[in-house]
Amino acid sequence: MKKLLNLILDIIFPLHCFGCQREGFWLCEKCFQELPLQPSFERFEKLLVFSVCDYENIQIKKIIKTCKFSSISELSNTLGKILIKGILKFPEILDLLKEKNQLLLIPIPLSSKRQTERGFNQSLIIARELSAHFQIPICDQLKKENRLPQSKVSVEKRGQNIQDAFSWQGANLNNYQIILVDDVVTTGATLSEASKILKKYGAKKIIGFAVAR
Ligand SMILES: [Zn+2]
Repeated sequence: MKKLLNLILDIIFPLHCFGCQREGFWLCEKCFQELPLQPSFERFEKLLVFSVCDYENIQIKKIIKTCKFSSISELSNTLGKILIKGILKFPEILDLLKEKNQLLLIPIPLSSKRQTERGFNQSLIIARELSAHFQIPICDQLKKENRLPQSKVSVEKRGQNIQDAFSWQGANLNNYQIILVDDVVTTGATLSEASKILKKYGAKKIIGFAVAR
């Protein structure tokens, strides 16, 4: 059913590269290679977050917005590939990723309401790309209550909006280093709040990964 829907969508809205408009791609290889990546770290409260590009970049913004406001899950794979490309440029992160047996990727969840509306969680798809590339396991047991989307809340109220929104349904995280995965980091409120609950369940170290900031 989904394949048929995708086929119909392809006929009505043929794919065009977000960069050069070439038909048949979301982001053609040339535009992917030319994306301006600026991997960097930022600290939000106690959490260090690694991100690889600027949300104001036109192609990145188009991909993320289309991802969030449509039901096209394939674009999230592209976001995962962009994150991987940024990681490969950053030796400190590559060193961290070598300790595979202690690492766990945890995607930032959608609330069950949003998950049902959209049909997929973009952060989980991004995490799967990372998992396949770096052979790090994923644990998708972080859950989120229904809250207003952070994008609809003023920057000052985002911390309050997300407070106590997460719960952990997995096993104890003793001795694991956690990589929390999200598509965009803005105020860091979501990643910080999620990291609090994982610390309670014994996570040794936590770092955030986001595609854009
Ligand atoms: Zn292109």
